[in-house]
Amino acid sequence: MAEILQKLSQLADPSPMMQQYIDIKREHPDYILLYRLGDFYEMFFEDAVAVSRDLELTLTGRDCGEGKRAAMCGVPFHKLELYLGRLVEKGYKVAICEQTEDPALAKGLVKRSVCRMVTPGTVTDASILTENCNNYLCAVSLSAKPCALAFADISTGQLYASLAETEEDFQRELGSFSPREVLFDLPCEECRSLCDFVALRLGAMVTPAREDLFADAFSSGVVRQTFSDRLTDLAEPSVLRALTALFAYIRQTQMVEPTFLRELHIRRGGQHVELDLSTLRNLELTGSMRTGERRGTLLWVLDATVTSMGARRLRTAICQPLCDVGQIRYRQKAVEELVGSFLLRQEIRAALDPILDIERLTAKAVYGTANARDLRALAQSLATLPSIRTLLEGAKSPALCTLFEEMDPLQELCDLLLSALTDEPPFTVREGGMIRDGYHSDVDYLRQIQASGTGWKEEIEQREQAETGIKNLKVGYNKVFGYYIEVTRSQLDLVPPHYVRKQTLTGCERFITDELKQMENTVLGAADKLAALEYELFVGLRERVAEQSARLQKTASQIATLDMYQSLATVAAEGNYVCPEVDNSSVISIVGGRHPVVERCAPDSFFVPNDTYLDTDASRMMLITGPNMAGKSTYMRQVALIVLMAQLGSFVPAKEARIGVVDRIFTRVGASDDLASGQSTFMLEMTEVAHILKHATERSLVIYDEVGRGTSTYDGMSIARAVVEYTASRKLGARAMFATHYHELTELEGICEGVVNYHIAAKKRGDGIVFLRKIVKGATDDSYGIEVAKLAGVPAEVVRRAREVLADIEQGEGIRTKTRPVRAAEPASFDMLTALAKTEADEVADALREADLNTLTPIEAMNLLFTLKKKLTVQSN
Ligand code: ADP
Ligand code: MG
Repeated sequence: MAEILQKLSQLADPSPMMQQYIDIKREHPDYILLYRLGDFYEMFFEDAVAVSRDLELTLTGRDCGEGKRAAMCGVPFHKLELYLGRLVEKGYKVAICEQTEDPALAKGLVKRSVCRMVTPGTVTDASILTENCNNYLCAVSLSAKPCALAFADISTGQLYASLAETEEDFQRELGSFSPREVLFDLPCEECRSLCDFVALRLGAMVTPAREDLFADAFSSGVVRQTFSDRLTDLAEPSVLRALTALFAYIRQTQMVEPTFLRELHIRRGGQHVELDLSTLRNLELTGSMRTGERRGTLLWVLDATVTSMGARRLRTAICQPLCDVGQIRYRQKAVEELVGSFLLRQEIRAALDPILDIERLTAKAVYGTANARDLRALAQSLATLPSIRTLLEGAKSPALCTLFEEMDPLQELCDLLLSALTDEPPFTVREGGMIRDGYHSDVDYLRQIQASGTGWKEEIEQREQAETGIKNLKVGYNKVFGYYIEVTRSQLDLVPPHYVRKQTLTGCERFITDELKQMENTVLGAADKLAALEYELFVGLRERVAEQSARLQKTASQIATLDMYQSLATVAAEGNYVCPEVDNSSVISIVGGRHPVVERCAPDSFFVPNDTYLDTDASRMMLITGPNMAGKSTYMRQVALIVLMAQLGSFVPAKEARIGVVDRIFTRVGASDDLASGQSTFMLEMTEVAHILKHATERSLVIYDEVGRGTSTYDGMSIARAVVEYTASRKLGARAMFATHYHELTELEGICEGVVNYHIAAKKRGDGIVFLRKIVKGATDDSYGIEVAKLAGVPAEVVRRAREVLADIEQGEGIRTKTRPVRAAEPASFDMLTALAKTEADEVADALREADLNTLTPIEAMNLLFTLKKKLTVQSN
């Protein structure tokens, strides 16, 4: 950007317009300046070059003085929102420069100034924001210790602050909010790893070294005043600094005071289950590992919300599960009540359905960008609240009762807006049509003048035709010349002398008369006055809304909460979930648990339920072996997800569950499974293991998936063993699951306290393999690697050769590929398999019972038959 300025200053004698552009651009060097010129927003110089490339716009040029040409590209003014969205998406900050006086009245160059700036973290336009997702701006104060972070979603009014002491604290907080833009008080060189984390792992915009924002005296005063009842929270200098930076930046970019941020939440350790970024991603809570999409995530399964406020609340709840048993039960009770009443649930869903985004509409009113449609939408949303209250009237659970008692439908505001605004107000706010008849006497009066005027055109036309004898004489109007009488060339000799010629066109001439001029003044005057008056009234209404923003925010939050409860209840009822028993014990006991996402992704295939038992005593660590593809990773994630769901107040996919709350969940996924980060180096794997070993507590849940796979066999195995020993030992004592293909580790059972061997059953069939997907106590007897290879379609010749090599090795070198059959082939497992066979036969019978033959297509019938048959073949082998 500095380059542009340099180039500009080389122009000794720029054109006046270019001089204006240069002056404005100089004040906003790191912004793309959209400069309003007529019906376009134009960009110049490097701005134009970069943007035309990124947005595929045509690059043109414009004379900028001294006969030089400036690169230029532009977007039509009515498409501003669209291009703004794309620019912000590409990581640009944009300053919008408008004409601030009427070009028709301006003498010389039209005055212009920047009226709005849009950056990724300060977006408020609905068209750019994602509906069901918060958009956070973050400020990180590093120069006062302890450091602090503050987060604001200025499109909804959420505001959080927290302290951070270690790099991990920062990363966890940042990961949990996933801000779009982060302001730092230090230059990047002084906080390199944090900047990298924000830019590379979160993909957010970094704005470094903004001490001017963090130390802004005015904003600091505003913060202190706004939160005058929270002075103890602000006593920490870094918290005040971080909030100050947010306020200063918002004032700078939005050009209004952020009075909208009034509810400050201070985050403290121990309130929420701590989830670091890798765990958030590994567990695929809100974004899938491979594509980052919503499909295939826990959020995708649990989201049956009907409002965007509810969807955002649910997303937050999923990333921030609770630790306090009382709070969890409080939510659980509400969900339980709604699970119990299909009718109430349906009615609540129906009542929530027409409610629009009250939070964001209110925010727009505060920022002065709401139009009459927005206010009308807001009023209509409020209008449904009384019916929701009525639905909650008989509620029993404390949470629903509180909602009933406290829900504030803002009746007066709602009535005011509905009585003031027309049913379908226009998008524009300057051209009238917004205010309802009967609301304001002056509006009615001006409308009357206009209305009595509508017939006059035809009247004059007919009279003039009759008087002059010109049959095709017409009265018309255009913006430049106003009203005129049009006479075709052939009739010109009939034109009376009092007609004054105004304009000559090819086929006709246009005239005015005194009478026409007078009518024009009255009518146009009335229209202008009306538009101005309507605008004034509208702005008044918008201010009324802004004044009530705190109440509106509270109501929006209640709607969000109710929507979240009904969503959890709907999913629980439809997915056949149970209410888990949540307590402070150290037990995690799940009967018939299922993976919520996997079972939903393939609803037609049978998901095999599995049990789990963990405590902080003799069953601290499940050591899980079993062939590739057996289902180890799925099983462990399923346990983590069930715990997490239980702690966010949801029902869980199981027959029965008892969850002793956890304080943190850690996951470490081995190198070859680590699709997400693309940085699957052994170093990264070990960094994460180190992180777990340092930070896990007795109350944590830890998942290790194939740790040690990223290095040579013996290295890997030794590390894996040491990690198991350390995690299970009294030193750490966390509840943990460890999946590994190192069968040698199964020796640890009996040696290392708390370690219990499990495997996921698979059977050889001929020289193939059948996955039973059932977790069974004891170690597996074989790694079935060759069978899996065969299943994957490795050519028969290679498979055959592999078997030969394996046989040689087993006989010759005595290298063990099989573990000593510790407990693997003991009779119990065979019983287990018979039991399994029975359940499968049952499942087949169930599936047949459920199948509706009347609606099956022949193809579906074939597929069903095929699946069932396959089930039974599995069993008979
Ligand atoms: P592993 O980690 O042992 O290699 P995965 O957990 O990746 O195995 O599971 C392999 C496949 O098996 C997955 O695609 C999953 O859909 C399926 N699967 C896993 N567990 C079950 C289950 N309990 N019921 C049905 N299918 C399952
Ligand atoms: Mg796996």
